[in-house]
Formats: sequence, C-alpha cells, structure tokens
Amino acid sequence: MNNQVKNRRILIVDDNEAIHADIHSILEPPKENAELNSLTAALFDGVAPTSTDAIKYEIDSAFQGQEGFEMLRKSYAEGSPYALAIVDVRMPPGWDGIQTIQEMKKIDPYLQVAICTAYSDYSWQSMLDKFGINDWLLILKKPFDVVEVKQLACSLTEKWNLSKRVSMRTVELEQSVEDHALQLEIANAKLQEQVQSLADTNSHLSREMEARREADEQLRHIAFHDALTGLPNRVMLSERIGECIDRSKRQQSYHFSVLYCDLDNFKIVNDSLGHRVGDQLLVHIGERLRNALRTTLESIRAGYDMVSRLSGDEFVVLLDDVEGAEHALLIAERVREVVCQTVKIDQNELVPSISIGVAMSSGEYDDATEMLRDADTALYHAKDNGKCCVSMFDSNMRTQVTNRMNLESDLRRAIEEEQFVVYYQPIVSLLTGEIVSLEALVRWQHPVQGMLSPDAFISVAEETGMIDAIGEFVFREAVDQVGHWKSSLPEAEQLSVSINLSPRQLRNRRIIGVISESLKNSGFDPSALKIEVTESAMMTDLAMVRSIIEDISAMGVEFYLDDFGTGYSSLSILHTLPFSTIKLDRSFVSNLDKELESPTTIQAIVMLARNGGVKLVAEGIETYAQLCYLRELDCEYGQGYYFSKPKPKREIEELLRKGAKHLVQPEGAAAKSLPALAN
Ligand code: C2E
Ligand code: CA
Ligand code: CA
Repeated sequence: MNNQVKNRRILIVDDNEAIHADIHSILEPPKENAELNSLTAALFDGVAPTSTDAIKYEIDSAFQGQEGFEMLRKSYAEGSPYALAIVDVRMPPGWDGIQTIQEMKKIDPYLQVAICTAYSDYSWQSMLDKFGINDWLLILKKPFDVVEVKQLACSLTEKWNLSKRVSMRTVELEQSVEDHALQLEIANAKLQEQVQSLADTNSHLSREMEARREADEQLRHIAFHDALTGLPNRVMLSERIGECIDRSKRQQSYHFSVLYCDLDNFKIVNDSLGHRVGDQLLVHIGERLRNALRTTLESIRAGYDMVSRLSGDEFVVLLDDVEGAEHALLIAERVREVVCQTVKIDQNELVPSISIGVAMSSGEYDDATEMLRDADTALYHAKDNGKCCVSMFDSNMRTQVTNRMNLESDLRRAIEEEQFVVYYQPIVSLLTGEIVSLEALVRWQHPVQGMLSPDAFISVAEETGMIDAIGEFVFREAVDQVGHWKSSLPEAEQLSVSINLSPRQLRNRRIIGVISESLKNSGFDPSALKIEVTESAMMTDLAMVRSIIEDISAMGVEFYLDDFGTGYSSLSILHTLPFSTIKLDRSFVSNLDKELESPTTIQAIVMLARNGGVKLVAEGIETYAQLCYLRELDCEYGQGYYFSKPKPKREIEELLRKGAKHLVQPEGAAAKSLPALAN
C-alpha cells in the first residue's frame, strides 16, 4: 500500500458548524503552513510513512449522530470507508457521541475515533467505562490544539491503514494458511490412501507369506514323513541316527540301538486280501510299534525313541539311550510280542508276524547308512532263522553278507559262461529194479570251489530271479539228453525225465512257452516229461500257479508233488491239482529203519495214493533194508543213494546199459538179514 492509495478519509460528526470549519482549516492548510508540516514530519523522524505536507485528507461532515452513522455505513458499503471519525460527545437532539461511536464500530471495527469533548460533557472516566481502555480511541479536548488535531489525524488515519494492512495481511496469511492446510489435507488424504494401499499390500503380503510358510511346513512334513502311516521316513530317521552317532562319539557311556523290523509274509496278505487291507495292516503295525515303545519303556523315553517306516513293510525303531545290547534285545522281544497279536481288519482276522534285526551303536559307525545296513543284515538272519524272531548283528554276519554278494556276482558270471551241468539220479521200480525215470539235478562247476550242489546256490538264484535262466538251461539240456538216450539206447526206450521247477518259475507264464517250444523242437514225448514241484511252491498265488500247471498238463506233461509230507496242505492240494505222482520225502524213509517212523504213516500215505489213483516214489533210499520195508508197504518206486547218487551223463549212460535189477533181487544173506517190520 503506498501513499496514493492510503485512506485519509475523515468524517466529522458535530452539531457545531464552527468545529467543522476549524478542523477543515487545520487539516487542509494553505501552503504557507509549511513550517508546521515540516515540524510534524520531524516528529516521525524519517520513519513516518509520509510527511504531513503530503497528506491530503478527504473530510466529510455530518451534524447529527444518525446522519454520521448513515454516511459511514454507505461509504463502507461502497468500498470507500472512513479511516477516522471525529465525533462530538453532545449532539442533541439525536444520538450522543457515545452511541454514535458504538453503532459506527459495529459497521467498521477498524474505524479510528477521536471523541471531542468539553470538560463538562462526560467525565473522562465514564467514557473509559463505556469503551474500556483501547487502541482506537483518542480524546480530543475542546478547545482544540492545532498540532494535536494534525497529529491525531495523521496518526489515526495512518493507524487505520496499518490495521487494515495487517488485517489484509492476516486474511492473506489466513488464506495462505488455509490453502496450505487444504493442500496438506489433500496431501494427507493421498498419504492416507497410500498408507491404506500399503497396508492392503502388506496384509496381502503377510497372507501370502503365511500361505507360503504353511506350504513350506507341509513340504517339510512330506519330505520327512511317510504318507501312509504319518510316521517319520528314512530321511528323518537318518538325521536322528546321525545325531545319535555324534552323541555316542562325544559321550562314551551313551548307547543307542536300531531295530530293523520287517513283516513276515506281508506279500501273502497283499496278494490274497488286496492292497487296501495290506495298507491298513501297515497303519496298524505303525501304531503298535509306537504304542509298544510307550508301554514297554519308561514313559520318559517315549519322546526320544522314534518309529519310522522306510518302505513297504519295513519299519525301523530307534532306541535312544539304552543300557546295552541285552537291554536292546529285551525291548526288541517285547516289540515283537506286541506286534504279533491278532488284528481284525474288515472281516479278516490277521496274526501279523515280524522279524527284527538289531544293531547297537559302536564307535565304528560314521553314518546312518552303515548302521541301517548292519541292522538289515541282522534282519536277514532273523528271517533265515525261520522268521518271527529277533537277531542281533555281529561282525560274522557281515562276512556272510560279503559271501552272499560274491555268490551273487559269481552266479551271474556262471550263467553267462554256462558253468552249469546236469546230473541225473535214477528213479527205480522197487519190484523190478528197472530204471523208469531220471531226475535232472543241476550242479555248478565253480571255477574255484569245484562242483557245487544246488543247496549252495539255488535259494540265491531263486531270490534274485537267476533261477529262470538256470532252470531253462536244465530243461533244454535234460530234454535233449534223455531224448537222445531214449532214441539211442534200447534199455532207455521207456525212460522219462523229472525236472524240478522252483516256486518262482511256477509264477511266470513264460515257463509254458519254454516247455512247449522245447518239446516241439526236440520231438520229445510229452508223457515222458515229469515236472516236480513242492507243496511250499504253492503257498501263494495259488490261482496263477494252478493255471500254469493246468496249461502245462494240457500238453500231456505229468506233475509230481515233491518232498511230500513236509508241507502243510498236502491233502487239499492233491485233490485240486493234477498230480500223477507223490514223492515221499526222504525224512520218512531215513527214519524207517531207525524205527523212529511208524510204518503206519507210510502205509496211510500209500493207501491215500492208491485210492487217489496216484503213484508213489520214495526218496532217499540208502539201504537195502529201507528198500525191503518199502516193498513190503507196497510202495512202487524209489530213488536214493542205494541205487545211485546223482551222476554225470557219462556214468548214467553206463548205468542205463547195466540196469539196477540186481539191486532189488534178494540175494541170500541180504534177504535173510531183513528185520521184521514192527506194526
Ligand atoms: P530234490 O528235488 O528233493 O532232489 C533230491 C535231492 O535229494 C537231491 O539233492 C539228491 O542228491 C538228494 N538225494 C537223493 N537220494 C538221496 C539219498 O539217498 N540220501 C540223501 N541224503 N540225499 C539224497 P540235490 O541234488 O543236492 O538237490 C537238492 C535240491 O535242489 C533238490 O531237491 C531240488 O529241490 C533242488 N534242485 C536240484 N536241481 C534243480 C533244478 O534244476 N531246478 C530247481 N528248481 N531245483 C533244483
Ligand atoms: Ca525233486
Ligand atoms: Ca524231493
């Protein structure tokens, strides 16, 4: 705001015209009054907004309070307010100065006021009481002093302008503050939005993190647990065993043990009752193992021991902190007993049986694999000992395992290099001494160990599946050889050949093709081919075994039931499968002349055979006495060292030419020495 636009409007409200004239003359001085003006200017000492010389007042006059008020209101409304009102106190008959000023102040609160008063009008105190002490009112006492009026007009108009400016500035400031506040509010709102969206993102993120954490946990659970039983798996077990090994290395008095458990004959359950029942049985076993630990051990141990499932029907129990081998064996025995109690699944009552191999901690173990391997070796022994038992690992077992592994690899090479030969053992008519058949029995010409009998390798060949290759070799060889003898030796024209089939071979339909091909190619008479199978070979997969036997029988081939009397279900099998001949196990025969075997058992079997229309071959005849007993019991055929051990083909050829007739003819002393049969 500069001088030009400063408001210098003054309204004089006084009923005395002379006063108006006085003030006009004071505030609109002629040029000569310059000294007075410069004096006023000096009073401001150069900081005055302007010099009084330059001040041009606009002075209006009103002669009554209401009139003054109206003029002020109008000017204010028109935007040219008065800066100063000089108001007389007494203006009869209208408003007095006090009321006039009060009304005017309501219009323009910035209005500066000089109130003119003679001493007698109001007491100054009563005026102060009306307005209070304030910064906008001066009291101008009559008669005026010129300087006082000039000074007053200059100061008060200047003050109006300053107040106005301050007020405008304040408004500006307020506006600017408001603007800022608004902007702040907008910014704040935006910030809130961002905060909200951040919070949203955050909660989304934390939900996602939670989901990820859960997924991680699930993955971890899957990685360390078996899906079927929920038990820890091999990974977790190995970790725990590793920890125990570390501890046993640090702490000499600490021992722990690993029980490698395997269900006996689980395959039978799976095959005969289905996988669903098999799975349920595994879950039951898992629970029993866990419960067994809780009931058989001090409860405090339960937290440290661990039951895990490795695969199929293999479970491993980790016994933490045992006293020693005996303690571990004791627990293993109890575990075995708990598991072997009857369990009912659906309608089936099952009696599970479990074999357990135990390995004790020792300074030698460096990782879980080694210890599990030894426990597994002990388990293998437990199975070998007839199953359902507990076996503690010792280092001899390791040697046996090594031997077994060597045997496997040797056997594999033996198949490649055809190290097998077939020996033959005659089956003789006990009446005539005629050799009616030859049983083909395989031998292994081992490059280092010499000639090995089947007991040394058949079971391994069976377990590893190598029996198929060996069996096919024996089959071709025997059929060719016996076929050759039949056609070249008149003594051998009626000869037949017996070939053994193992349980595994009886479960693979491939054997049907092998036999029919071989018969076709060699022109061998199928009725001269006898196949020997044991009862135990028919314990499982009976349906499959039956269909294979029936298909082979249909070619005209006969079946012999081998090792009769050592199995379980002899009678039922005889009735349902097409066996032409029973081979009485040699245990019956060898006990005959030791009088351990009552001849009535054999008599009963002979009757059974006769009634069933099957022939009987007694195995293992070693003495003339045994031969005689058997003849008396009406047994038709026999086989054994008494007639001939199994022999290579060259020797058998000689035997065929010579015959065994002389062996069955009673010759003097021999016949007389025959003891009477006890009945
Ligand atoms: P197996 O079928 O019971 O064969 C008879 C076994 O009894 C033969 O043993 C034979 O040497 C033996 N033996 C015969 N007479 C007597 C005797 O008077 N006294 C005594 N103590 N033993 C006698 P080997 O040859 O050692 O065969 C053992 C088993 O190996 C056989 O028992 C048979 O189950 C199996 N086997 C042999 N060759 C084969 C084959 O080519 N394939 C299959 N799958 N198994 C075979
Ligand atoms: Ca046999
Ligand atoms: Ca036999």
